Amino acid sequence: MRQKLLSEGAKELSYEIREIVKKANILQKEGVDITWENIGDPIQKHAQVPEWIKDIIQRLAADNNSYGYCDSKGVFKTRKFLAQKNNQHGGAQITADDILFFNGLGDAISTLYHYLDATSRVIGPSPAYSTHSSAEAAHANHQPLTYKLDPKNNWYPDMQDLRNKVEFNPNVVAILLINPDNPTGMVYPKEILDQIVQLAREFDLMLISDEIYHHITYNGARAYALSEVIGDVPGIAMKGISKEMPWPGARCGWIECYNRDKSLEFDQLCNALDDAKMIEVCSTTLPQMAIPEILGDPRFYEYREKLNEETGWRSTFIADTLSEVPELIINKTYGAFYNTIVFKEGVLRDDQSLEITNPQAKVRVEEWVEDVPLDFRFVYYLLGATGICVVPISSFCSDLLGFRVTLLEEDEELLKKTFTQIRDSIREYLDS
Ligand code: PLP
Repeated sequence: MRQKLLSEGAKELSYEIREIVKKANILQKEGVDITWENIGDPIQKHAQVPEWIKDIIQRLAADNNSYGYCDSKGVFKTRKFLAQKNNQHGGAQITADDILFFNGLGDAISTLYHYLDATSRVIGPSPAYSTHSSAEAAHANHQPLTYKLDPKNNWYPDMQDLRNKVEFNPNVVAILLINPDNPTGMVYPKEILDQIVQLAREFDLMLISDEIYHHITYNGARAYALSEVIGDVPGIAMKGISKEMPWPGARCGWIECYNRDKSLEFDQLCNALDDAKMIEVCSTTLPQMAIPEILGDPRFYEYREKLNEETGWRSTFIADTLSEVPELIINKTYGAFYNTIVFKEGVLRDDQSLEITNPQAKVRVEEWVEDVPLDFRFVYYLLGATGICVVPISSFCSDLLGFRVTLLEEDEELLKKTFTQIRDSIREYLDS
């Protein structure tokens, strides 16, 4: 090629949640039966979308308008509905013009970071959800910039670490929160949100809050929306239907921009995002048309409550089962549908293993564990020996060693079998 093709930032793109699938697929071909604990897709885990939601979508699919492009920013009626829904909190108020639809939040995330100045950084939580950390790092052509979530303190943010990094890194323009959090299942208490808003105000930063799991809380928790706590600080909330409805295949999510009138530069960024979507024409129409009908129906909240209760039960079962291994740090979760399990310092070594009975799988795993972080080693052995596919936590921009599981398995017997097997495999691995 006459010129370099690939941008430097491209090397920051990684998504272990799907990378591990390639390994699992190889083992599946060798005859290993895989239990998928890697991806947060409720549909893949056998969740059934209620019939009344399917009826609404079927009716809309028969409406000719749902086949057309929509307004670049998104269907007006839907944006108006969502603005009113937000304004009911009495926090930061918005209009339909402050909402912009995307083809899933993945699209919103990559577009937002793409249009930030290359020298401006967004500091986000570690362990980090890779769609954010990889896209932000690729835009800055640098490694992700993160603050620590502390597994020894309910996964709450280490506020001193966050303050130091904001204070000594003048390139930081925004703080990212994921609330409820992927991968830890932590829900930010209001006092911590207030402190983060205060920090943003003090250093003249904007806030970004990924709220895709907003209605997924349990074990007595409730998630505060950014708009409830943000006061006069500029900020963006990211929302979507992939997890809550759940309809990840719709590729539909949106952003809400708060306090545009408080900062000209922030307002210009929001306008640039509108323009970027205009160049693409618009996002998927049909799912947007369905939102007011579904989220405006009281049955939606009854349905969510039932699902949340079930997720809470699974969360407790998983935490109780794995807590029986003293070498692990386990937290109960309160939101989203993941738990991140951490190995205590020093318990993992590079000579530990599990017995793999399938000879071809054994050869593969032994090849893969050459020169990898110690939690990848555990994850590959677990995959080879049991077929259980989890994601190593060091791949979430973290110094911690551990793995992420989902709380999505609806089949109670299979859930019990999977997590008892994980517990027993950890014991065997640590004793090997
Ligand atoms: N944000 C978070 C925190 C997620 O966990 C995910 C998906 O797992 C997304 C965004 C992406 O959502 P979407 O399906 O809307 O692209």
